[in-house]
Amino acid sequence: MCLAEDKFREECGVCGVFGHPEAANLVYLGLYALQHRGQESAGICSSDEKQLHLEKSLGLVADIFNEKRLKRLPGYAAIGHNRYSTAGGNNPKNAQPILANYSMGQLAIAHNGNLVNAFELRKRLEDQGAIFQSTSDSEVFIHLIAHSKEPELRDRIIEALREVSGSYSLILQTEKKIYAVRDPFGVRPLCLGRVEGAYVVASETCALDLIGATYDRDIEPGEMVEISANGIETMQALSAPRKAFCIFEFIYFARPDSRIFGGITVNMVRKKQGRRLAIENPVDADLVIPVPDSGVPAALGYSEQSGIPFEFGLIRNHYIGRTFIEPKQSIRHFGVKIKLNPVRELLEGKRVIVVDDSIVRGTTSKKIVKMLREQGGAAEVHMKISSPPTTGPCYYGIDTPTRQELIASSHSVEEIKRYTTANSLSYLSQEGLFTTVPNPEDFCSACFDGSYPISFPGQKMQLELLF
Ligand code: AMP
Repeated sequence: MCLAEDKFREECGVCGVFGHPEAANLVYLGLYALQHRGQESAGICSSDEKQLHLEKSLGLVADIFNEKRLKRLPGYAAIGHNRYSTAGGNNPKNAQPILANYSMGQLAIAHNGNLVNAFELRKRLEDQGAIFQSTSDSEVFIHLIAHSKEPELRDRIIEALREVSGSYSLILQTEKKIYAVRDPFGVRPLCLGRVEGAYVVASETCALDLIGATYDRDIEPGEMVEISANGIETMQALSAPRKAFCIFEFIYFARPDSRIFGGITVNMVRKKQGRRLAIENPVDADLVIPVPDSGVPAALGYSEQSGIPFEFGLIRNHYIGRTFIEPKQSIRHFGVKIKLNPVRELLEGKRVIVVDDSIVRGTTSKKIVKMLREQGGAAEVHMKISSPPTTGPCYYGIDTPTRQELIASSHSVEEIKRYTTANSLSYLSQEGLFTTVPNPEDFCSACFDGSYPISFPGQKMQLELLF
C-alpha cells in the first residue's frame, strides 16, 4: 500500500520456493501465473545461502525477466512479488520484494495485503530515527523487525506481527530460511505445496499448478511457517476472535482455476453465484452473455439455472498493456470499446441478459449497455450482477475507490439502473451470496455491509462518513 493518496489501494501476489536448484525460475513461473493479482511491478529475491540477490522493476513479469536476469538470481531459495497498479502509485521504489540489511544480516519481504495502522507505525518509527526507502506500508515490517531486541528472528517477526493491524499474506527471506505468515483473520489467501522435494508458498494454487507442485494445504490464519534446510516448522504466531476471508476474492479477484480458503475452487463459487442470481432475479430473455473475463463463470451458472442459452456476445481484447496510449483528437475516448466489442450477429433484436461480477463506479456498465444496444442491436439489456451492491471501500487490500466514487454508496438500485440505462438491473443478495460458500461466518463482507472485522485508526470517523 502507498501511504499517501493511495492509502487504501493495494492488490498483490506472492510466491516463494525453498530447496530447489531452480528456485528463482520456479518463482518466476509462479508470479507469471499470479499476474492478475498485480501488474505494476514484479520482483524476485534469491539466496545463495551467503547473500540475497534482488531483481525488480516496474512492468509485467514476462517483460521484466529474461534468462540473463534470472541467472543473476542464484540459489536454492527465492521469493517473489507482483504489485498492483494504482493511480499515481507508479513508483519503482514501492516494487517488492523489499530488501534490507540489519543487525542480524539480510532480510527480504514480499507482502500481499494492507496494514491499516501503517501510518501511525511509520510515524512512530520515524520519530525513533528510522529512514524509510519507500511509501509502501510493507516496509513497516522491516523496521519493526530491525528495531526488536529479541535474539531470535522468529520472535522478532512475532513481535512485529503483534504491532501491525490489517491484512497480510507475507513471505520473508533471510540467507538461510524463508518464513510464510498469514494474518490472524486470514483475509488474503496463502497456500503451501511441494515440488520435487522443495516447498512452495503462493497466493493462489494456480501458481502451484503451473510449476507442477502439489497443493498440500493453506497457511492457516495466524500461522507462521519457517522453512529451512532442517525442513518445515510451524507455529501459531497470533490468534484472532474470528476469520475474515475476503469474499471479493471469490467474486472478482482470484483466478477461477485457483482453490483458495480451504481448497474451494473459485470457478465453482462463481457459477453458484450465477445460479443463485437466476433464482433470485428471473427475467424473460433470449440470451445470457458475460462481461468477460470476470463475468464468465457466473453467466454460465445463470444460463444453466435459467435454461436461457449462453453466448459470448462481447469479445475482449486481451492484449491491452499498461502502455496503451489513446490517440489524440478525433479518435479519442475509446473507453470500454478498446477492451470489449459486441458480436452483432448474436445480439441483434435479442433480449439480452448481461452478467458482470460487480459495479464499482457504474461507468463500465453504462458503456456496456449503450454498446450492446447501439453497436450490437440488442432489443433489451438486462444487467445482472453476481455480488451485492458495493457500498464501502476495502481497507484490507482490494483496490476500491473512495466511498464517494462507489455508485452504490449513495444511489439505490433503481437509480443505478437509470444511470446505466439498462432495461432492468439486479444484484445478488448478500444472503444469496453467502449460500455459495461454506461457513459464511468466516468471511469479510465489509464492502457490502460496512461491518469491518479489523478495526483501524480513524475508523469511527470513516464509518460515520460511510453509513
Ligand atoms: P466500474 O466501471 O467502476 O463500475 O467498474 C466495474 C468493473 O470493474 C467490473 O467489470 C468489475 O469486473 C471490475 N472490477 C471490480 N473490482 C475491481 C478491482 N478491484 N479492480 C479492477 N477492476 C475491478
